[in-house]
Amino acid sequence: MNDNGIPYKTYLSENEVPDAWYNMRADMKRKPAPMLDPATLAPVQADALRKVFCDEAVRQELDDASQWIPIPGPVRDFYRMFRPSPLVRAYFLEKALDTPARIFYKFEGNNTSGSHKLNSAIAQAYYAKEQGLKGVTTETGAGQWGTALSMACAFFKLDCRVFMVKCSYEQKPFRREVMRTYGAEVTPSPSMETEAGRRINAEHPGCTGSLGCAISEAVEAAVSREGYRYVLGSVLAQVCLHQSIIGLETKTALDRLGVKPDIIIGCAGGGSNLAGLIAPFMGEKLRGEADYRIVAVEPASCPSFTRGRFAYDFCDTGRVCPLQKMYTLGHDYIPSASHAGGLRYHGMSAVLSELYAQGMMEARSVEQTRVFQAAETFARTEGILPAPESSHAICAAMDEAMRCKEEGKSETIVFGLTGTGYFDMTAYQAFNDGRMGDYVPADAEIEASLAKLPKV
Ligand SMILES: *Cc1c(COP(=O)(O)O)cnc(C)c1O
Repeated sequence: MNDNGIPYKTYLSENEVPDAWYNMRADMKRKPAPMLDPATLAPVQADALRKVFCDEAVRQELDDASQWIPIPGPVRDFYRMFRPSPLVRAYFLEKALDTPARIFYKFEGNNTSGSHKLNSAIAQAYYAKEQGLKGVTTETGAGQWGTALSMACAFFKLDCRVFMVKCSYEQKPFRREVMRTYGAEVTPSPSMETEAGRRINAEHPGCTGSLGCAISEAVEAAVSREGYRYVLGSVLAQVCLHQSIIGLETKTALDRLGVKPDIIIGCAGGGSNLAGLIAPFMGEKLRGEADYRIVAVEPASCPSFTRGRFAYDFCDTGRVCPLQKMYTLGHDYIPSASHAGGLRYHGMSAVLSELYAQGMMEARSVEQTRVFQAAETFARTEGILPAPESSHAICAAMDEAMRCKEEGKSETIVFGLTGTGYFDMTAYQAFNDGRMGDYVPADAEIEASLAKLPKV
């Protein structure tokens, strides 16, 4: 197997679970722009944020100076149940592609939530518990975040209220049952239980929901109840921070193997797994110690980086969350109902947006039929049934490997395999039946949505 001494799987020991998260912002000369208050459009104050998020979350969100933030003991203990996650050399995929490239992937799907989201969920639940809160509210799209948060809340005995994008709620009833098994209350969004939900239902009857809309509902449900706060599974700087554990482990494992990657690839929805995977590598790049190509991959039907605008926008349809300066398609943008591959958020992490604007990383978009073709190849060669989200990264990694073949180069490619796709079989079914189509929004559609950006 190991023609050049590299095993199929590299596992670190439990003692090597990192004891601090790495904060890329500390090494950025130009920092992400400050968040703005949705009511006044002035830079948001910590006091205002503390009404929505728990105190430690606010502290981390605003901290762009500390390079390292210690991981609390109980969080690190929880991590040991499913971390360190394996770094896999994709020998079988390389062989199938007949490529001279070396391909590695970091697999985050080895926990019940089936994705990397548990890395941040457990941290956020811990801080809520430490603050003495009763519970947390959140939104979930495909359901991985809601599941991860349900698991984390069950562990720390917190109430968990999840607003689930209605089309996912209907497409993925078993996701809902997993969340309920962990004790969460799950409501399809837009619902009639919040002001924001009722307004969206009135304005868009039959609306199948969006992440932006579910966020508005979850925030409202948190601020209107004593002892509750809102938590978010992506986009925010604190989530990117927690996810840095992925990159830190990856770097330790690669260093042990004596391998320096040329290209690091991740799928990008709100940007947290990618931010986490690249964190220590981007840190080296920012400090001028090393160079890597870093590639974000997004769906052609929701192309924030590649076709959005770098501007201040609301993080949610209901305009209750602070504004961020980010690559955005407009806060009302809802990808076509035929889009099945996740990554449907209209904006992008402000940290990654700033790095992209500075030319520190690349981005590309892929159409979903190509994504599922890549997923099929990966499932048949490497054995793991990948999440459609993760398959965006697989697709780009395969494209890079084929380029290496054409150019006769043996570059090293590392990509993030963020999760498994067991709950995405409706999408796989459409693909297997040949019923899956590609939807690429017209310029006019994106322009119309961008016309609604706030004037800041
Ligand atoms: C949520 C999710 C993503 C996308 O979220 P990011 O914040 O962009 O990382 C990717 N893959 C899986 C499996 C997910 O659950």
